[in-house]
Amino acid sequence: MAAAKSLRIALAGNPNSGKTSIFNSMTGARQQVGNWPGVTVEKKLGFFTYKGYDIEVVDLPGTYSLTAYSVEERVARTYLVEEKPDVVIHVVDAGNIARNLYLTVQLLELGVDLIVDLNMWDEFTACGSELDCDRLETLFGSPVVQTVGHRGIGIDDLLDAVIKLVEERAEQHRHVPITYGSHVDDVLTELTGLLEATPDLIGNYPARWVAIKLLEGDSEIRKRLSKGGESARSILDEAERATRHIGVATKSDPEKVISEGRYGYIEGTLKEILTEEPADRMELSRRLDSVFTHRYLGYPIFFAFVWILFQMTFRIGAIPMGWIDAFVGWLAGTLAATLPESQLSSLLVDGVIGGVGSVIVFLPNIMVLFLGIAFLEDSGYMARAAFLMDRVMHALGLHGKSFIPLLMGFGCSVPAIMATRTLESRRDRTLTTLIVPLMSCSARLPVYLLIGGAFFAERAGTVVFVIYVLGIVAAILIGRLFASTLFRSAPAPFVMELPPYRLPTAKGLLIHTWERSRIYLQKMGGVILAASVVLWFLGAYPQNPGLTESLEHEIAEQRAIGSVAALEKVSELEADAAALRIENSYIGKAGQFVEPVIEPLGFRWEMGVSLITGFVAKEVVVSTLGVLYHTGVEEVSGRSLVEALRDPANGITPLAAFAFMVFVLLYTPCIVTIVAVRREAGTGWMWFSIAYQLALAWLVSFGIYQVGTLVGLG
Ligand code: GDP
Ligand code: MG
Repeated sequence: MAAAKSLRIALAGNPNSGKTSIFNSMTGARQQVGNWPGVTVEKKLGFFTYKGYDIEVVDLPGTYSLTAYSVEERVARTYLVEEKPDVVIHVVDAGNIARNLYLTVQLLELGVDLIVDLNMWDEFTACGSELDCDRLETLFGSPVVQTVGHRGIGIDDLLDAVIKLVEERAEQHRHVPITYGSHVDDVLTELTGLLEATPDLIGNYPARWVAIKLLEGDSEIRKRLSKGGESARSILDEAERATRHIGVATKSDPEKVISEGRYGYIEGTLKEILTEEPADRMELSRRLDSVFTHRYLGYPIFFAFVWILFQMTFRIGAIPMGWIDAFVGWLAGTLAATLPESQLSSLLVDGVIGGVGSVIVFLPNIMVLFLGIAFLEDSGYMARAAFLMDRVMHALGLHGKSFIPLLMGFGCSVPAIMATRTLESRRDRTLTTLIVPLMSCSARLPVYLLIGGAFFAERAGTVVFVIYVLGIVAAILIGRLFASTLFRSAPAPFVMELPPYRLPTAKGLLIHTWERSRIYLQKMGGVILAASVVLWFLGAYPQNPGLTESLEHEIAEQRAIGSVAALEKVSELEADAAALRIENSYIGKAGQFVEPVIEPLGFRWEMGVSLITGFVAKEVVVSTLGVLYHTGVEEVSGRSLVEALRDPANGITPLAAFAFMVFVLLYTPCIVTIVAVRREAGTGWMWFSIAYQLALAWLVSFGIYQVGTLVGLG
């Protein structure tokens, strides 16, 4: 048997046309999710075999056009030209065919081997529309197939068409030059000739396409040519002259003339192929919108949905969370009991299971949250929520879509930052990514509960509420500040897309949920695991058995006595030994090192250490304080962590405690978030976000503590 032949397919199309559904139907679970090089647009690759072909399929970012105006468009066209997939499938929302064909026409101009996939064929026919597919096939010189993407209907026809196109490429394919009127056409021919004469200038790009782009004033193509020396310069000059000429001749600019040419071509095509005008399938959506995006009603409905989502996240998530928690506890207990006491068992139990276990318990919550969000997104409701919040978000120099990541930030910054991918412009993605961590995530709550409970007793609830509000206020102020300084380039003007409401399918929901959960598991598991091991090491080393020798000795003596008083003494001594060990470990040393930095905030060195370890995850602040105040296990010390913190001997004032909570709120949330920031915004912004949050946390806490002390609150 011959070796399998390989094939590469690209899926192009407008946002919401069903590309990802088709992609999922083709590949099932065999997908790879990553980013396009250098940008934060998601890249999805899938692999499968069909009729003896090994097929690689890529889900291109959704675009309406192939200009250089947005990252998505640049990514899509660069891929099409430079990676030259064997076949490009244009996934068309058949119910919206007029608008979708604008991209088809540009794909044809780009000279790719195209298949037009009329997706959402179910909706199209349900509206009583009819369309002459054979005619379309002839007009465009490309095969036309009908599919219902989310149900996997027609996928085999689509793949058969792909293989047929590849095997009989020569006969099937025909280039369709669109005419733009004599003024433009003449100039185009001339420029095309010039470009064809200097092939190394334009590489894989079709000459006529480059000529069109030059007339359109495409920034990227111009930049490319401007690096090309003498002949390139003369072509650019020629294009310049042609542009002016067209401007004079048509009293319009070439970009407009060209896009009008395309629309004219599409209009003509539609006249030929549409035998029955599509009915208004947006009717139901419009009726739903009159409620969901109602000027007043919309808001309470939205908050009700969010409230339900968070209730579900915590209530439903809590059940499997309990099981996982119990399992982790059981595993740790069993291992501790069976393994001989050694460094290795301590590393396993305290380090690995303690660290990773504390993260894995949140998986069910995260999955429920992702499932809920996938439902809201797939049904089309999320777009409405963003629409509602648009006005509020403009105060932040952002628009409505940024609202969703910010809202998710109350749960966890990591999925929230991942959710910035839904934003169109890079500026908005970066700005939102930078302020998301100021929304108080759920991992910080345990810290507030501990500190608030210890120092503010019955007023703790109010104090925690104040902290949350402070986070929101900080996000608003910082957002405005950054928008007016670092991101002056004005929010990308854009009309919010409101896709029709649809009932999500189980398969789509599950794939979305799994995709995000897997990223959480992989990335977070890796980072948390590494950090846990490092932390364990820093707390357990350097080992110095001599250090606690006399204490151990005394412990043994008291044990031998065995009276109640003696056993009490034992626990006291054990606590002292633990304290001594920690103080002399690397962590203890680090604490003494940071002491001068945090002293002006009224913090003790133990608090400083917990802030450092809190980089791993905010819950770790609590466990670190537990270890450092050697009260982690109550039986050892005989008093709770709360009592230990409150002990006047420790010298923590309520004012310092409040400043500490504010610090925890404002400073860089955790390693996982930092990784997420880097992934979405790049390394530069990652460092910036670490630096600004640390500075902000320090300054605000310093202000609170110092001013508070001055006015006598301390
Ligand atoms: P993408 O933005 O192009 O990747 O589009 P998606 O694949 O995410 O699909 C957008 C929405 O359309 C989802 O809710 C899908 O379930 C739905 N959808 C996809 N294909 C079809 C189809 O053929 N018919 C119908 N009725 N809905 C579809
Ligand atoms: Mg998609």
